Amino acid sequence: MRTVPQLRRVVHPSYAPSRFRSVYLPLLLYANPYPETFMSLDHVRIVLIEPQHPGNIGAAARAMKTMSLSQLVLVRPREFPSFEAERRAAGADDILNSAQVVDDVGDAIGDCRLVVGCSARNRGVLHELFDARQCAAQLLGETASGDPAAVMFGTERTGLENHDLDRCNYQVVIPANEKFSSLNLASAVQLVCYELFMAADGPALELPKRVAEYPGREKDMEHFFNHLVRALDSREFLEGEMREVGIMKIRRLFGRARPSEGELKLLHSLSRLIHKDGQ
Ligand code: SAH
Repeated sequence: MRTVPQLRRVVHPSYAPSRFRSVYLPLLLYANPYPETFMSLDHVRIVLIEPQHPGNIGAAARAMKTMSLSQLVLVRPREFPSFEAERRAAGADDILNSAQVVDDVGDAIGDCRLVVGCSARNRGVLHELFDARQCAAQLLGETASGDPAAVMFGTERTGLENHDLDRCNYQVVIPANEKFSSLNLASAVQLVCYELFMAADGPALELPKRVAEYPGREKDMEHFFNHLVRALDSREFLEGEMREVGIMKIRRLFGRARPSEGELKLLHSLSRLIHKDGQ
């Protein structure tokens, strides 16, 4: 069943030819009962963690602009701004100029309710896996409400670290040759953005199922995890070598469950109960 009208054809007004902008766009906006849906590609943020090669940053910006995405966040880039990034952006300078640079992953994703992490690798403790196409549908469905969502990409040599994947609700795998599955960073960005672009143009965007109670934001999830771990530590619940794996499993369990803000309050109360000193 179609829950949201098919609208997106028009990407971003700033890219529309001026005649189109002045004549047709107001009509389209007027006719659109879900204005946020119309712009939903704008709410999807591409986050590059510790990109090492400025050329990849430029190529990622270009990949984004070709697919009408514009929100780029760089976490601790080795070199930025850079001439090489500009060269490889090949005209997508506006994306580079408006890119945000942050030191902490939390600053890049804290306000998002949905965070997905791209990794070709399966690192033991499983996340729920999406391929790029399924991920695009999910991202667009959830950003239709106007909330930002983030797609994180790892550094070139070692990829997304476990502690970054722990902060994601889902892992995204771009299906590829089993024996050679690691794409170049900017190519991975291109494929994910392409799927987003296609999905936004396609039929039937599903609105989030829980409109009444949205999942908590990433920073609130972090706050809860820290509280829970403190409580568990006060009981020496997870010790020795198993502590790290145990915490990762707990994080991924709640990451999948995606508790709402109300449920997070409840979970904080539970953590206080567990805590030896009731904190
Ligand atoms: N050598 C790294 C790969 C780095 S490629 C490794 O083994 O993990 C840079 C980034 O591109 C990765 O961190 C990931 O975010 C993305 N990427 C590359 N290939 C991918 C694939 N097949 N599926 C999902 N993401 C991929």
